[in-house]
Amino acid sequence: MVKENLTEVEERIQAACRRAGRDRSEVTLIAVSKTKPVPMLEEAYQYGIREFGENKVQEMMDKYEVLPQDIRWHMIGHLQRNKVKYLMGKAYLIHSVDSLRLAEEISAQSVKHQVQTNILIEVNIAGEASKFGISGEETFRLVTAAAALPNIHVKGLMTIAPFVDNPEDNRVYFQKIRELSVDIGCKKIDNVDMHILSMGMTGDYEVAIEEGATHIRVGTGIFGERDYNRKGSFQI
Ligand SMILES: *Cc1c(COP(=O)(O)O)cnc(C)c1O
Repeated sequence: MVKENLTEVEERIQAACRRAGRDRSEVTLIAVSKTKPVPMLEEAYQYGIREFGENKVQEMMDKYEVLPQDIRWHMIGHLQRNKVKYLMGKAYLIHSVDSLRLAEEISAQSVKHQVQTNILIEVNIAGEASKFGISGEETFRLVTAAAALPNIHVKGLMTIAPFVDNPEDNRVYFQKIRELSVDIGCKKIDNVDMHILSMGMTGDYEVAIEEGATHIRVGTGIFGERDYNRKGSFQI
C-alpha cells in the first residue's frame, strides 16, 4: 500500500509543481510516520523516502535507533522543554518552535552537546484557538530573538492550516504565511534565512505547493489512516 500511495503522492506533487511553474527539486516530501510501525517506515525508505516526520520525542528516538542513519528526522509536534535534550544531534530540523523559552532551551542544549540545531518558527496563521504557534505579528520578534541565541539557526516558518473539506479554503493562509516569510527574509536579520516554508498536509499539500511550500508533511496520504486507540500507539 505504501508503494502505491507514494506513487500517487509523487504524481500529485509533480502536477502541482507544473501548475505553479516550479521545479520538483524545490519541494521536499516529509513522510509523517507518527503512530506507524517501523516496517511501514522501512517500506517507504525502500522506495526512496529519506525524510520522516514525527510528533513525539520518545517515538522518534525509538525509530531513530533502529532505522538507517541517512534518514533526516523532522520534529513536527509540540515540544516540551524537558524533552529537548533527547533531540540533540538527532533531529535534522525542529519545525515547532513557538516560544522564546523553547528556543532558549534548544540553544542551551545545543551548546551543551556541541551541536548546531536548525529550527522553524511555528505560526498559527489562521489564529485558531485550538492550535499551537504564534501570531503573524509576534513572528518577527521571535525570529529575531531566537536568531541571537548561540548554536541555533532559524531556517524559516511552519504552519498547520485549518482542517477543511475544501483545500482551496486554505489558499489564503498559505499566501499569508508566504508573504510573512518574504517580509522577514527581506529584513536580512543576522543568522536568519527564510528559505524553508513547511506547510501542506494530506488534505491540502497541492495548494500549499502552488503557494510556495518548500516542505510538505504528508502522513495519511502515504501510510493510511492513523489509529490512536491502539495500545502503546505504535510498535517496533
Ligand atoms: C500529523 C501531522 C501531519 C500529517 O497529517 P496528514 O493529514 O496525515 O497528512 C502534518 N503535520 C503535522 C504537524 C502533523 O502533526
